[in-house]
Amino acid sequence: MLQQTKVATVKDYFNRWMLRFPTALRLAEAPVEEVLEAWAGLGYYRRARNIHATAVQIAESGMPQSRDEWMTMPGVGRYTASAVSSMTTGERVTVVDGNVSRIISRIFGLYCDVTTGSGQKEIWQVADSLLPERSFPGDFNEAMMEFGALQCVPKSPNCTDCILKNECVAYSEGLVATLPIRNSRKKQKRKMIVETAYCFTNARNEVLLAKRLEKGLYAGLWEFPMASTQEELESELLVPISNVSKPLGIVEKKLSHRVLKITLVRASLEARKKSPHGTRYQALAWYSKRKIEELAISSTTVSILRLLEKK
Ligand code: SF4
Repeated sequence: MLQQTKVATVKDYFNRWMLRFPTALRLAEAPVEEVLEAWAGLGYYRRARNIHATAVQIAESGMPQSRDEWMTMPGVGRYTASAVSSMTTGERVTVVDGNVSRIISRIFGLYCDVTTGSGQKEIWQVADSLLPERSFPGDFNEAMMEFGALQCVPKSPNCTDCILKNECVAYSEGLVATLPIRNSRKKQKRKMIVETAYCFTNARNEVLLAKRLEKGLYAGLWEFPMASTQEELESELLVPISNVSKPLGIVEKKLSHRVLKITLVRASLEARKKSPHGTRYQALAWYSKRKIEELAISSTTVSILRLLEKK
């Protein structure tokens, strides 16, 4: 839940989530649709699907007992597996995230590129060697991450007040601004996708939403029907579109590998009797604006709703 989100934003979601799904078994029993609705507004819906799939696996085969077992769960990598295992059962494994990579490369004066596999291997090895014999591994890992988040911050850390300044190579050699090395992370040029989203309303002032297929971008989420051309959307919805308005505004969203540029228009749709064609959407339904906020929708749809509110 905390990915690219502040704790203050997540707190209410987390509390509601825990009331609704207090155990892994309760979560496993819930249909994925209910899980996505509980997640609605947080984005990164793949995480909600993975948590649900993990709960199902736990219900079938029991709770993982080690980092390696956690790593067999859907969407769980070495970082998450190490964090969960060290903080719950106290397994003697270290956690390396961006904070820990930064601390280690600075304190030990490491010139390895922390964005590469070999650089990460070196950082993990040093981190493993630091795990104290007698302390609880989870506490050590949390302390390292907090130290990076609060003290050894990326830009202009307050080194003169740092308890580790006498051990820190970067500080003594004036390399604080240089380390960690992050050479190889080339800025990928994101592909621009230009589409038009259509706001269709009916006599009850409800708007038509379309549900994405279960694979690909925004899998299983509801959104304003959109496509790169009107013809493309007509062939998806299987009905003609008319009365297309001038653009109401543009929503731009940066995703990991692409940028979505979506122009919003109002339009009319002839009575619809058939299901969508199924190349992008699996279902269509009319919703009141109040009800839409309770659905599993993407952050792009949230932005479009905000844009509509201003019109
Ligand atoms: S002295 Fe500065 S660079 Fe070194 S660990 Fe402390 S805060 Fe980080």
